[in-house]
Amino acid sequence: MKIDLKDLIPEFGNNLKLNFDLKKKNWFNIGGKTKAFYKADSLKELIKFLKKINNKEKIFILGAGSNTLITDKQFNGIVIKLSNNFNNISMLNNDIIIAGSAVTDKSLSDFAMENSIGGFEFLSCIPGTVGGGIKMNAGCFEREFKDILVSVQAIDKSGKVITIPAKQINFEYRGSSLSDDLIFLSASFKGFNKNKDLIQNEIIKLKAKKDKSQPTRIKTSGSTFKNPINQSDKKVWQLIKESVPLEKSFGDASISEKHCNFFVNKGNAKFEDMKKLINFVSDSVFKKTGIKLETEIKILE
Ligand SMILES: Cc1cc2nc3c(=O)[nH]c(=O)nc-3n(C[C@H](O)[C@H](O)[C@H](O)COP(=O)(O)OP(=O)(O)OC[C@H]3O[C@@H](n4cnc5c(N)ncnc54)[C@H](O)[C@@H]3O)c2cc1C
Repeated sequence: MKIDLKDLIPEFGNNLKLNFDLKKKNWFNIGGKTKAFYKADSLKELIKFLKKINNKEKIFILGAGSNTLITDKQFNGIVIKLSNNFNNISMLNNDIIIAGSAVTDKSLSDFAMENSIGGFEFLSCIPGTVGGGIKMNAGCFEREFKDILVSVQAIDKSGKVITIPAKQINFEYRGSSLSDDLIFLSASFKGFNKNKDLIQNEIIKLKAKKDKSQPTRIKTSGSTFKNPINQSDKKVWQLIKESVPLEKSFGDASISEKHCNFFVNKGNAKFEDMKKLINFVSDSVFKKTGIKLETEIKILE
């Protein structure tokens, strides 16, 4: 039997909101309401909440929303977001950093720099959280989360907490063998001792490189499609450039002039506009090259 979520409000108070608007919770600035939104303030509360839900509802975990396109229609499930209490970050020994899943990639990179730990510089260029980064095996400039991850602490949807060593996870390009049923709570990462000034210089260099090739301060979710690494030596932006009229738009959903794999909400794009643009681009690439593109962004509908 389904739970009446209204009945949980006295217990979870303001942290549980019904019919909650998700538009401001993602970088695209697109989306409608979710049946419920739960902000988890602590592990104890999260376990309590999951036990009440008892696997009877669809659940989606939202990080910074920098890789997620959300439907304008109601999402018939619960969106869970970890609160700032999952923002802890600390050193263990000389080269291990433990970070909560809500920590932003940039904060993790800054923390590593302050502690003279190298290997985290690439994270300064990715606008998500640790949780989203693990899920996506996010990366840039030849480095990915898998290169620094030691272990992940997670909770399954029945409320059981587990620790998974990185060597038991099969990471792939922008994905992994980690189950969709897991909510990542925190992770430990390993770097190496490096001079702070060298780290800072590296970060400045990477950011400049990124700013040169990719748009900033726009409503986007970054790369829309994955590079088709098993089908072509070409990068996806090259395939798009060769196959698609780049001025094509649907409503306010358009292709970035700076990087054609970045799609942009120029104002009031609707979910359907962005979906039409995604389908148009993948169909055009398929017609021209025979390559089937796969979206990198996660679509919540
Ligand atoms: C301007 C711009 C530039 C970008 N550049 C890059 C880049 O260089 N390289 C790159 O790889 N990506 C890039 N991205 C995409 C995005 O930043 C990354 O994928 C990032 O890791 C997503 O993190 P997030 O917290 O925003 O995840 P969200 O978008 O909130 O979620 C993404 C996925 O992770 C899951 N998730 C989030 N948190 C958790 C959790 N705690 N437990 C379990 N699952 C979770 C969600 O359910 C969803 O499936 C860019 C995006 C933008 C907007």
